[in-house]
Amino acid sequence: MSKPTLDQLITNPSCMDDYDPNSMPVEKARQFIKQFLEPITATETLNLRDSLGRILATDILSPANVPNYDNSAMDGYAFSATDLTTTELKVIGTAFAGKAFNGAVNSGECVRIMTGAVMPQGTDTVVIQEKISRNGDYIKMTEAPKPRANVRYTGEDLQLGQTVLNNGHFIRPADLGLLASLGIGEVNVYRKLKVAFFSTGDELVGVGQPLANGQVYDSNRYTLYGMLAKLGVEIIDLGAIADDRNMLEHTLLNAAEIADVVITSGGVSVGEADYMKELLSQHGQVMFWKIAMKPGRPLAYGKISKAHYFGLPGNPVAVMVTFYQFVRDALLRLMGQREIMPLPTFTVECTAPIKKLSGRTEFQRGILFHDENGIWKVKPTGSQGSAILSSMSLANCFIVLDVAVSNLDAGAMVQVQVMDGLV
Ligand code: AMP
Ligand code: MG
Repeated sequence: MSKPTLDQLITNPSCMDDYDPNSMPVEKARQFIKQFLEPITATETLNLRDSLGRILATDILSPANVPNYDNSAMDGYAFSATDLTTTELKVIGTAFAGKAFNGAVNSGECVRIMTGAVMPQGTDTVVIQEKISRNGDYIKMTEAPKPRANVRYTGEDLQLGQTVLNNGHFIRPADLGLLASLGIGEVNVYRKLKVAFFSTGDELVGVGQPLANGQVYDSNRYTLYGMLAKLGVEIIDLGAIADDRNMLEHTLLNAAEIADVVITSGGVSVGEADYMKELLSQHGQVMFWKIAMKPGRPLAYGKISKAHYFGLPGNPVAVMVTFYQFVRDALLRLMGQREIMPLPTFTVECTAPIKKLSGRTEFQRGILFHDENGIWKVKPTGSQGSAILSSMSLANCFIVLDVAVSNLDAGAMVQVQVMDGLV
């Protein structure tokens, strides 16, 4: 059976097993979104350094053996393993990194050799300089190495023609070095994903403006900017838009025109001034969920013409939680990344009691720390309201509490998920 389109799912949600828009489990929503994510295909070629943080658009095959000659791994003396039992070896020259010893080495002879120097002809073993005694032109080994010891062999790191990095690989500092070690100076990567976002709400005021009673500063555009910047997408900030149907409509359609992904915050629940739902059903195919999670209950996902749309809740903590739990993975996939590392999650002891209602997944804010014995533990940041943005600033992890979990006593083992940017 071919997979249902977004349109079919919206008009006939039963296409989706167990679909319940009023208590959508977190994992189900993730899987649902995933099926509509087609990675971008356009690529560009960049200088090696500029490719940091971008996604490779081709497989990289090794154009050479690395290393491409046998060389010494240590400072010492190179000789043939057949001479391991010879009591004295004559030093007939010196080999430096970048300055080889060009003669041949015969039985009973050795060459003084530095780390990285080409192994002279006739040698296959190095004794390190700490394990010999030298007398004029002769050395005696105080401790014999194993045959072929202390040598880095041709192709030991990478072999000619071997696949080194795969299409879809996220380029990290180690990869820059690896590519440089192959002599590769230019890299083909996927073009940057364009992400447009705007805030919605009559109460929002931009930083730098005076704040009247009943107004709040628009912080969501700053957290979104930060999280998007870390992902390395092209950011299009469309500002804070008042709860005005025409202005929202204009901004939304413009965003879908100029970006691959549109993210909004606020206005996706069912308040009087929440126009987003109406606009989206008019101009796109968008599903509205009440996710069984806290914070971040209302969430919308869909398409407006070719653009993907994420409608995040307005509450500042909910914006960050839904971004990390849904948007981050989706963006990485759209950016072309093939194997997406989830945020590292592990189990530690929680040092304080936790209040939790069963029936929903909670992402409480926590501080991972190591105690006096060096053991990692977590403590909650305190008040867990979804408007308390200071809890996100204090936190370095989410305490992820599954649907079935309810109140926990101090000392309980809990799952923590390290926040992006810390690793
Ligand atoms: P809404 O989802 O639009 O009902 O908003 C929920 C709560 O989040 C309200 O208290 C809003 O004032 C607040 N809020 C919405 N957008 C922002 C924003 N961009 N920055 C800070 N707070 C916001
Ligand atoms: Mg609002």
